[in-house]
Amino acid sequence: MILPRYDRRCGWYEQLDFISDFPEVTTDIRVDVLVIGAGFVGCAAARRMAENRPDTSVMLIDAIKVGQGASGRNSGFVIDQPHKRDLESGDEQLKQKIVGLSRVALEYLETQIDRYGIDCQWSHAGKYQAAVGPRGRKHLDHYEALLKKGNETYRRLDKDEMREVFGTNFYSAAIHTPGGALMQPAALMRGLADHMPDNVQVAERTAVTSIARNKRGFEVRTEKARIQCRQLILGTNIFTAELGYMADRILPIMTFASMTAPLNNSQLKRYGGQLDWGITPADHGGTTLRMTQDKRLIVRNSYRYAHDYNTPQALIPGIAARHRDAFDQRYPQLNDVEFEYTWGGASGLSANFETYFGELEPDVFASCCDQSVGAARGTISGMMLADMACGKKTELLHDMQSVSGNPSRLPPKPLLRIGVPVRLAYERFASRSEV
Ligand SMILES: Cc1cc2nc3c(=O)[nH]c(=O)nc-3n(C[C@H](O)[C@H](O)[C@H](O)COP(=O)(O)OP(=O)(O)OC[C@H]3O[C@@H](n4cnc5c(N)ncnc54)[C@H](O)[C@@H]3O)c2cc1C
Repeated sequence: MILPRYDRRCGWYEQLDFISDFPEVTTDIRVDVLVIGAGFVGCAAARRMAENRPDTSVMLIDAIKVGQGASGRNSGFVIDQPHKRDLESGDEQLKQKIVGLSRVALEYLETQIDRYGIDCQWSHAGKYQAAVGPRGRKHLDHYEALLKKGNETYRRLDKDEMREVFGTNFYSAAIHTPGGALMQPAALMRGLADHMPDNVQVAERTAVTSIARNKRGFEVRTEKARIQCRQLILGTNIFTAELGYMADRILPIMTFASMTAPLNNSQLKRYGGQLDWGITPADHGGTTLRMTQDKRLIVRNSYRYAHDYNTPQALIPGIAARHRDAFDQRYPQLNDVEFEYTWGGASGLSANFETYFGELEPDVFASCCDQSVGAARGTISGMMLADMACGKKTELLHDMQSVSGNPSRLPPKPLLRIGVPVRLAYERFASRSEV
């Protein structure tokens, strides 16, 4: 069984000033609801379950420390728009439902950030989508047409404004949508776990190794103890397959990010742009770029088929070199800026782009294959899984079910190990102008 590991490379996590310590589970315990995985899905599910049923005992556990998994490793965009495929679908109602659900997730996160004063660089910066060459511009024009059709608010930037905000002339076109938020993901995840309701116990460094049904519900084995529970919520992303569910449907794809040291005054002057913005590439094969509130630039690109789920360390130098190349093209004036961190993280995709949400078998609830937009999608999924487990029947839950589907069956793993890298190499070549 493959378990999550942490490699001490993620810049977001490594920069945290203070990391609280939740205990490991070392003795047998009984709880009403066990939530496995403390990412966006698990944190939202545990909180919502506790809010729905204040008398219920909830346990939230993770194999590693909260914030070390994908939810603490991402680029920090909480996006309100649907991902590419849903945006492109002609179904306006579906798009509106996804936007509505994502906005509920944004509000839920923001309420907790405000209530508990979670210091995670949260800002209403919205999101830029930018193009470099003709391929990117074609994607951007298409994106604009879709935004127009959906009556979404957006604006195009001219060349001067792009230079003013991004500190580079590298991009040829960009669109800003105001709806989403930016954040420091590891700080957000730690803050969410640190402020769980009283009836939620959090445990870290506690890997689940097996799940068995018994008369009283489930016996969940960890490396050191057994947890007895009545209901289970799986927020385990790609590792859901290792727990025996959706094994032939979750496509684990890894992407990588590098973070610079904070720019010093001289570098900031040469940079010449603003703080606190984020660009996603118009062509999804391109590069994501962020400037944080604390003056660090972050570059994300490159994909690999993550059959091993964790990040092979031997890949890191090559990836860092690719990131350096993308950085130097954008910021030739900053060639003295060092990358402090380079890391990888895996997301669950599906072959038909469908996201799974629901009850896998009686009293086992899960959501996975979020197509790598899990900050908002994972949060609303976790909330709605808790509602579903409580037997609630709301319009929001109905919407969640109607935007989710059945990820299609994947070819056997040996074929995936040949086919997916070939496809990714082709896409990388096709998108080369945007990287
Ligand atoms: C580099 C990068 C950039 C990204 N950028 C963005 C972005 O800007 N915006 C966005 O929305 N999405 C982004 N994503 C995707 C996003 O991070 C994921 O979609 C999201 O974090 C998934 O959340 P989750 O709760 O489903 O899973 P995870 O965060 O993966 O949480 C699953 C948890 O389950 C735990 N677990 C697994 N197996 C076990 C076990 N056996 N026992 C106990 N615990 C276990 C893991 O340790 C993990 O912490 C990015 C991803 C990467 C890698």
